[in-house]
Amino acid sequence: MGIYQNAQLLLSAAAASQFPADRGAEVAIAGRSNAGKSSAINAIVGRRALARTSKQPGRTRLLNFFELTPGARLIDLPGYGYAQGARAERDTWARLIAALAPRHSLKGLLLVVDARRGFQDSDEQLLIWAQLHSRPVHVLLAKADQLRPSEARSLRAHLQTQLLGRAAVQLFSAHESIGIDEARARLAAWLAGEPEQEKAPVVLKEPPGPA
Ligand code: GDP
Repeated sequence: MGIYQNAQLLLSAAAASQFPADRGAEVAIAGRSNAGKSSAINAIVGRRALARTSKQPGRTRLLNFFELTPGARLIDLPGYGYAQGARAERDTWARLIAALAPRHSLKGLLLVVDARRGFQDSDEQLLIWAQLHSRPVHVLLAKADQLRPSEARSLRAHLQTQLLGRAAVQLFSAHESIGIDEARARLAAWLAGEPEQEKAPVVLKEPPGPA
């Protein structure tokens, strides 16, 4: 049984004026097209075909707001990365994302990255956006089942280092059920308003004593 058994598509928005009221808590989920975002949504929410709705023709460029429980939402952002040439599409995407920034309800971002392709420039852009707007990011290295376990572990460690603490990174596979509980826990904690896990304290060197 899914953990959000009554999750449903609340609305699909083409403009900020269509967003639901800025009350409660919400988490956005983003990623390059084909990164595995829809599969991740279904696995995390525990509803096999929930995100299929957002893949229906005409809906792929919209922001899909799913209500998980009353007042708790997951926002499925349109996949990016394939529309390199399509300027109008990129502009629409940027406008929609920009409109999310002032929402008090937006607590964090799940960023789905295809483990076989790794972290790309477009992912970095989203990470920068999140930092600019003081939102925490949690990276799901999706399709981790496609890598050998040792490869997957070292990819995770490498990316964690590369990101310099700007985001947490975990392995994830919707198909092989890797990391689903961890992703659920992060989502639930954000929705419950719990702060980020404590970062390791920065150890300052003792100032030099008197000579
Ligand atoms: P989206 O475009 O980011 O929403 O990606 P989808 O969830 O539709 O997945 C894109 C492709 O990746 C599909 O062919 C999926 O079957 C495949 N895929 C998604 N998740 C996994 C996974 O955990 N493991 C593997 N091996 N393939 C996956």
